[in-house]
Amino acid sequence: MSKSSSGLFSGTTGYMHALGEDVFEKIMPNGEKNVDFNKLPGSTGYQIKNRLTDKQMEYLTNEYGVEFAQVYRLGPGKNGGGGTYYIYSGTRNSVLVPVDKNTILINHTHPGGTASPSKQDMKLMAMYAKLGSPQKTSAIIPSGKATIKFTSKGKKR
Ligand SMILES: [Zn+2]
Repeated sequence: MSKSSSGLFSGTTGYMHALGEDVFEKIMPNGEKNVDFNKLPGSTGYQIKNRLTDKQMEYLTNEYGVEFAQVYRLGPGKNGGGGTYYIYSGTRNSVLVPVDKNTILINHTHPGGTASPSKQDMKLMAMYAKLGSPQKTSAIIPSGKATIKFTSKGKKR
């Protein structure tokens, strides 16, 4: 599995502080006590029990000032059912996500509030398609604005 950035990767994280337990305690799989709540998920990612809402994603972004991305890894069921959700965090301008045929990028956040996909965002969609992921559309959650959808061609109207 390779990873590609949804934005211009700056190479540094630089901004990390304790991830509030109150945020993640509810969404981590039961019994997962060894998760380090003092670190953001980063490009390693955390498996989460349930898909986060747009509001929760925006909350995390505003709280930590970096991009967050939510990914679905297809499961063995029909149409990829029974899969797992992961969350990743990056920098203010980028977040690294896994790119392969079994991965769907559900959404990612734009802390600066940009309500349009970056060139990298669009390129990423083309990469998923090329690798055989069923994904055609993803979403961006810009801070303070409504969620938008986009494809490899740009913002979806
Ligand atoms: Zn983006």
